[in-house]
Amino acid sequence: MSEITKTMEAAGKVLADTYFRQPVVLVKGSGMRVWDDTGKEYLDFVAGVAVCILGHSHPAVADALARQARELVHVSNLYYTEPQVRLAEWLTARSFAEKVFFCNSGAEANEAAIKLARIYQKKKGRPERYRIITAEKSFHGRTLTTLSATGQEKIQKGFEPLVQGFDHAPYNDLAAVEKAVTPETAGIMMEPVQGEGGVVAPDSGYLAGLRKICDRQGLLLIYDEVQTGMGRTGKLFGYEHENVAPDIMTLAKGLGNGLPVGAMLATSEAAAAFTPGTHASTFGGTPLICAAALAVCETLEKEGVLEKAREVSAHFIARLSELAARHKVVAEVRGRGLLLGLALKKEAGPLVGALRERGFLVNAVQGDVLRFVPPLVVTKKDVDALCGVLDELLKDF
Ligand code: PLP
Repeated sequence: MSEITKTMEAAGKVLADTYFRQPVVLVKGSGMRVWDDTGKEYLDFVAGVAVCILGHSHPAVADALARQARELVHVSNLYYTEPQVRLAEWLTARSFAEKVFFCNSGAEANEAAIKLARIYQKKKGRPERYRIITAEKSFHGRTLTTLSATGQEKIQKGFEPLVQGFDHAPYNDLAAVEKAVTPETAGIMMEPVQGEGGVVAPDSGYLAGLRKICDRQGLLLIYDEVQTGMGRTGKLFGYEHENVAPDIMTLAKGLGNGLPVGAMLATSEAAAAFTPGTHASTFGGTPLICAAALAVCETLEKEGVLEKAREVSAHFIARLSELAARHKVVAEVRGRGLLLGLALKKEAGPLVGALRERGFLVNAVQGDVLRFVPPLVVTKKDVDALCGVLDELLKDF
């Protein structure tokens, strides 16, 4: 076991007790690696929960941040600032979207998407449409509205009454979605791969089926790409695997490589329902954060990160499949790109601890799925190191 240090003890006294934290105090990061306060090195297959796509402390991001910090940090959205416009141009040039609203987190981006879906239907003369269909086991955030949208009771428990207006259907079940549509439905919100829900990829044709239901019934299709966006699944956006565009998409996590930024992207047609005064964020899209996020975006392309990530993903899936074939405790290998899961037939918690002791950071979702969401710059050698140790640990598990 790792030693309980002074920082951990002090944390217990002053920090709200909302997290299951691993007993490690991290002090430094570089690329795939992080170090704790005893100098121990870890290969990081968590990456701040699918966030640090370029790895830790990337110099291009650090330089952009330092440069912009000396120029202009924040002035609010009462004024125009250049980095915000340039980041929006970058995102719209590479996606279905024409308009962007910036905020600070994934939950906030989803709040914006839900608000937009409601006001869109009102402005179209259909005020009775306010409900959103989401998936069972989905995860959309921890604000009251987004936890109500989330299809997991354990996240909602204790916070009732929930925000009304959400209906849940099993993921990958088009007939169930169709059945859930009522005259009050405004839109459908889905993750192109469920992350927190256990790393579940959509069946081929699922997104196209959702698109059809939306088009037929005048509903907005919203993709929550907070986790899948920015290359996590091997394409810039998860929906590109099926080439089925939504009306609204939310991003966060990878966009800032660790700096807090969220974005809601939409077609002009949908976005037109937001007019001055309908939605806002004090910190949304500050020059500081947008300059850094733009550096993330440009580096992703300049360094050919996605091409390399796709290669490593194929290798990773092959190595995990070998483990699945060798160890009966493994139920399944799941996911896409570098959002991968090893579903086990028992609780994965002890493995997370054992891997940490051996110098690998990994986390578990839904209790029994080891999730791997490393920086997209992870190498085959890093994957081999992890899988070698996993192979040993699974023998006695
Ligand atoms: N949506 C998805 C798909 C997520 O995976 C998450 C976070 O894990 C969120 C929304 C919430 O994002 P945040 O924690 O930045 O509010």
